[in-house]
Amino acid sequence: MFGPPGSGKGTQAVLLAEALKAPHISTGDIFRQNVKEGTVLGKQVKAIMDAGQLVPDELVNGIVADRLAQPDCSKGFILDGYPRTVRQAEMLDGLLGRLRKAKVVVNLLVDYNIIISRIAARRQCPVCGSSYNLVSNPSKVDGVCDKDGTALIQREDDKEEVMRKRFDAYNEQTLPVVDFFRAGEYRLVEVTGGNGAPEDLTAKILEQLTIG
Ligand code: ADP
Repeated sequence: MFGPPGSGKGTQAVLLAEALKAPHISTGDIFRQNVKEGTVLGKQVKAIMDAGQLVPDELVNGIVADRLAQPDCSKGFILDGYPRTVRQAEMLDGLLGRLRKAKVVVNLLVDYNIIISRIAARRQCPVCGSSYNLVSNPSKVDGVCDKDGTALIQREDDKEEVMRKRFDAYNEQTLPVVDFFRAGEYRLVEVTGGNGAPEDLTAKILEQLTIG
């Protein structure tokens, strides 16, 4: 699952995973969980993430290789937020070649201006991780988590200056990965997102997947 930061690719990945009954593997979620638990990995990546930069390839590749070796991945999986550099794509390509899996890339296209206004409105519960949006998905009581009543916060990397850095990283390091896929044996499904209900977009993606 491919798309710029804040494009809603995480939401689509979760919905697709439910529909296709495949495990959803988000490297961003794995890192955030480790930061929250204060593990060795979490301590290594926290400052990098807070600055909107990318975690080093060797670290990410090792984590993904371990995760894909788990039994629940044997019938397929959805990767969200990985690969993000050509070096990561090369590692994954080697792994998928050995697994003899069909390779599909869903590329979510969303206008950067839409993303920036949406991200500015994004809020999260620091305790349970529930996500809200001041405009499209507000909590019942302003500024407070529906599930546990905790005060909502803005993710450090959702702040505007950090957001800009994440776009720079995406343009410089991640967009070349799409060309890598184009040149290889990948089926590329491109969909435009950014407005409308997430479920409608998922339906559109599933439709394209079955047409092919
Ligand atoms: P986004 O909202 O940008 O899609 P993610 O939740 O996927 O955010 O990732 C959050 C942060 O975790 C990234 O900004 C980066 O620092 C780190 N990260 C996640 N996946 C990778 C990856 N594949 N390679 C390098 N860094 C990663």
